[in-house]
Amino acid sequence: MEKKQNRTQLIHAGRQKGYTLGGVNPVVQRASSIIFDSLAEKKHAVANRHQQTLFYGRRGTTTHFSLQDAMTELEQGTGCALFPCGAAAIANSILAFVKTGDHILVSGSAYEPTQDFCEKILADMQIETEYFDPLEGDEISHRIKPNTRIVFLESPGSYTMEVHDTPAIVRAVRNRAPDAVIMMDNTWAAGRLYQPLTQGVDISIQSGTKYIIGHSDNMLGTAVANARCWPTLRERAYLMGQTVDPDTAYQAARGLRTLDVRLAQHQENALHVANWLNEQAEVAKVLHPAFTDCPGHRYFARDFSGSNGLFSFVFKERLSDTQLEAFCDSMKYFSMAYSWGGYESLLLANQPEQLNRIRPVAKVSFSGTLVRLHIGLEQVEDLIADLAAGFERVNKT
Ligand SMILES: *Cc1c(COP(=O)(O)O)cnc(C)c1O
Repeated sequence: MEKKQNRTQLIHAGRQKGYTLGGVNPVVQRASSIIFDSLAEKKHAVANRHQQTLFYGRRGTTTHFSLQDAMTELEQGTGCALFPCGAAAIANSILAFVKTGDHILVSGSAYEPTQDFCEKILADMQIETEYFDPLEGDEISHRIKPNTRIVFLESPGSYTMEVHDTPAIVRAVRNRAPDAVIMMDNTWAAGRLYQPLTQGVDISIQSGTKYIIGHSDNMLGTAVANARCWPTLRERAYLMGQTVDPDTAYQAARGLRTLDVRLAQHQENALHVANWLNEQAEVAKVLHPAFTDCPGHRYFARDFSGSNGLFSFVFKERLSDTQLEAFCDSMKYFSMAYSWGGYESLLLANQPEQLNRIRPVAKVSFSGTLVRLHIGLEQVEDLIADLAAGFERVNKT
């Protein structure tokens, strides 16, 4: 597998002349109706509507085609479906391949709303969700049943950052259930630090809201599929009415151009902060996939080309409510918010029992408070000073 990111590709993907009309960037084409000058032209559009021929707004305009081309090229797939947000990309990718009576396997450290979708919507359709330990490799074959339709991965896992042995999982699934569809929530890698389709995963899903948009000001979901799964994903997402407006598609394509330089700086800042945290008396451990003691680190080292700004650390102690308030409420630069992937630093704290509620298997092994950090593009010394002052406030409380 080609691990190294190609920045040139990122700069040029999806910028064909037909999309840019001579400018640098794709033109924003806002359209519902597409006008056909003749019956012959309409006939051609109908026949080719799956293949980026203008047909009707819901099938996309040239602005969408440009972003879809870029994403397909970057994640090495056959096609890319666009969604209004990451949650829609996850829900609709799963729905495209399941029916009543099916069984699906989902990583035990998957993003919470993914689990909620399975528990609430799939369960009502009599589709059974079984969670597996994210560190399972070949062992997953014992969980595969005749009706297993989807294996849903997420690597590194939410909050606790376990990295899958994806090739081992793919081999096991292909042996026991050749028709099952393997999907991965690839948001952490932004489609750049890891490319699951090159290791046999069928569909790579992203919340483009995070690093692709990159400025915390819009939402998008993407799902890049291989040749086997693309026609079904494309048609089913279309039937579900999944589409995104052209201005958002434009913003996403714009975000792509600086994605690698942003990721590199997020990585540098985050490693700096993580190394500093690792030496603090208050910290029990740092959960960062680039650290050798992070669960699944050797798969990370083997399969990923780098890291980003998102990781967690665990306090030695379980902070009391007042200590937690002292830590979180008076930060100068770290805002408290869901989401991540923008240029700014964020934090979110969770007690172990809160994490265990969204960890149906493989409960956490620590008793201290976990803080997830997104390290932004600020001057790293300022971020460290902010955290150091936070520790001091906790110690005084
Ligand atoms: C944010 C996120 C999502 C959901 O994306 P939205 O764009 O917020 O709907 C899915 N998976 C992961 C890993 C995320 O971080």
